[in-house]
Amino acid sequence: MGTMSQAGFVNKASHIYIHIPFCVRKCNYCDFISYPEQSPEVMAVYCRLLEEEMKLAAGTWQPGPAATVFLGGGTPTILPADLLERILVAVEGYFNRQPEAEVSVEANPGTITLEKLRVLRSAGVNRLSLGVQSFDDRLLKAMGRIHRRRDIYQAYHLARRAGFANINLDLIFGLPGQTLEDWQATLREALALQPEHLAAYSLQVEEDTPWGRLAAAGNLNLPGEELELAMYQEAREKLAAAGYQQYEISNFARPGYRCRHNVTYWLNHPYLGLGAAAASSWRGERWQNYKNLEQYGAALSAGRLPRAEIEVTTPRQQMAETMFMGLRLLAGVNLQAFRQRFGKDAREVYAGEMERLLQAGLIEVQGHHLKLTERGLPLANEVFAAFV
Ligand code: SF4
Repeated sequence: MGTMSQAGFVNKASHIYIHIPFCVRKCNYCDFISYPEQSPEVMAVYCRLLEEEMKLAAGTWQPGPAATVFLGGGTPTILPADLLERILVAVEGYFNRQPEAEVSVEANPGTITLEKLRVLRSAGVNRLSLGVQSFDDRLLKAMGRIHRRRDIYQAYHLARRAGFANINLDLIFGLPGQTLEDWQATLREALALQPEHLAAYSLQVEEDTPWGRLAAAGNLNLPGEELELAMYQEAREKLAAAGYQQYEISNFARPGYRCRHNVTYWLNHPYLGLGAAAASSWRGERWQNYKNLEQYGAALSAGRLPRAEIEVTTPRQQMAETMFMGLRLLAGVNLQAFRQRFGKDAREVYAGEMERLLQAGLIEVQGHHLKLTERGLPLANEVFAAFV
């Protein structure tokens, strides 16, 4: 981490996110910025533009060597091996990497080949995050995923063969028509593979998606709050029993395998996002790149950084973000670090809110940390709302 300044920000962005906004086709629940069915030419042009952005961005400040790099999407593994390699070589060239850097790539089990995995490994990628979502073919099909259960096994074993020793599996629960038994079966299969990291997210039904429209019309058979909570608790219990530590609301890791890149977000530390739609947080400013590929390309072709709007955040906003992002971590918000960073005591800034949440038994102070209680964990959104 960089040095802290009095103004309440960390001076060095040494965490880099790169967005690949392409997918084979669009899943029924997805509202991420990703464009389906793009031609290989469009992807090649995009990768050239990404390099252009790296060059411009790297020239605007002197970042410390990257501690983490995260290639996400969309579907990064939709890119052919040579483009994946080019991006990783470029990011290393422009931003440098700490020797122990965590370099993650999100991989869709439907787009993986041994060649791509080998290229990723030799380009320094040491963490693979597999978008498994479910081991149930019926549910995968309903979600509009391009992969099936057998593809997960194949991708996982190929990744091990290519030398990946740090693999995450992303899972989703609370799916339409999913029973507790379905979810238990998915957890069992995921655990049997013995990945180093697991993430279990509850389905968010977003408005402008096929499932959002079905739900609005009353035609999506969602499990309901009670069953969803049972699924969440099931995941927490089964994963804990198998030796995974829950360190964030949805994230579980074997000791030593927490995702350092994502922890950066939860600590509200700075990061640089590259690529269409990528967000950045840096020196008290936040911005998002153009989502639209033409606008993204036009800015870069004109020699400008493709930043849509830069928002200056007030210390008050930064404090609020540090609270509600930090509470996602099971260890909670480090109150001493908060004081060092902002020159204020969170217990004074948020006296009223904290009193109410403490009384309600949703948060607790443990040593120097303010954290969610066991009771507060499934009600986290209510807690976060108090700080917004
Ligand atoms: S693969 Fe991921 S990013 Fe692409 S459409 Fe599906 S959910 Fe969205």
